[in-house]
Amino acid sequence: MTESIIDLRSDTVTQPCQGMKAAMISANIGDDVYGEDPTVAVLQEKLAEMTGKEAGLFFPSGTQSNLVALLSHCQRGDEYIVGQNAHTYKYEGGGAAVLGSIQPQPIEHEADGTLNLDRVAKAIKEDDFHFARTRLLALENTIGGKIVGLEYIGKAKQLTRDYNMGFHLDGARVFNAAVGLNVPMSTITQHFDSVSICLSKGLGAPIGSVLCGSHKIISNAQRWRKMVGGGMRQVGILAAAGIFALDNNIARLKEDHELAAYLGEKLGEMEEIELVGGKANTNILFFTLRDKNYAELAEYAEARGLRFSNSQPIRMVTHRHITKEQVLRTVEILKDFFA
Ligand SMILES: *Cc1c(COP(=O)(O)O)cnc(C)c1O
Repeated sequence: MTESIIDLRSDTVTQPCQGMKAAMISANIGDDVYGEDPTVAVLQEKLAEMTGKEAGLFFPSGTQSNLVALLSHCQRGDEYIVGQNAHTYKYEGGGAAVLGSIQPQPIEHEADGTLNLDRVAKAIKEDDFHFARTRLLALENTIGGKIVGLEYIGKAKQLTRDYNMGFHLDGARVFNAAVGLNVPMSTITQHFDSVSICLSKGLGAPIGSVLCGSHKIISNAQRWRKMVGGGMRQVGILAAAGIFALDNNIARLKEDHELAAYLGEKLGEMEEIELVGGKANTNILFFTLRDKNYAELAEYAEARGLRFSNSQPIRMVTHRHITKEQVLRTVEILKDFFA
């Protein structure tokens, strides 16, 4: 990566460090479709333990891991309840519907990113042949950079038990939630039947997600993963990066959160900016521009080596390659632009 560019687009832009690359080069590998890659096995067991689940399964992407989770919970003609802005619904190409004939039932988010549980309960269909069978509730944590709290998760879980539904977590950034709440990850994930975790976001691995759940869900998932082309061969070379990330890059997420909080504080002081959803409580920040001069700002920033997601609202994400100096420089560039 070019050192001079301040890339706040996403924590997915993180690159493997020397230590991670060394771990990849020296990894013990084997054919994982034959179940013979020892490094993949270690990664899967490690994350199963960290999430408090029986088993784990390695995937090339979080999109595939979520898709396979939905396919493992739901049959053709079943339905899952999900947030309107959830990744599994909005940002995965409609895969569950296209490939699984699973109908989504989206629900608007509350300001804190949660789904109102009374609304969820109302959306659950009766057992009647007019309706799709509501089989699953899928949450996301963090969602839009916000941590979904433990009390809410406990209530949501109870609802799924009352209605005999599965409970899936898109935990692409669940480590950020765990670090933000200062609890072991299993404190969050224990409530769910399945959890998908990304190693390629703030944890800094180049690729990889792991789906964790019961032996039953994971053996089902193994079949679906093969069908969607996710069975990989000497993939321990990538799993080694994931293991390195788990061993070295979790605690430091706190630094990303602190930098995002600092950035949010400074942006919040600017008249031309309105923070969306308040200050960051993890590593993601959203804001709108009062004068709607999005294109002008993006161009001005790009010319000065500053990149962010030029969506509306604008998104800025802190990560391993972002320093305090770069955050100060970001604030300076924005101030200069508004001046
Ligand atoms: C990144 C992400 C995923 C998976 O993304 P891939 O790019 O397919 O690995 C899933 N859910 C959320 C919330 C994400 O941020």
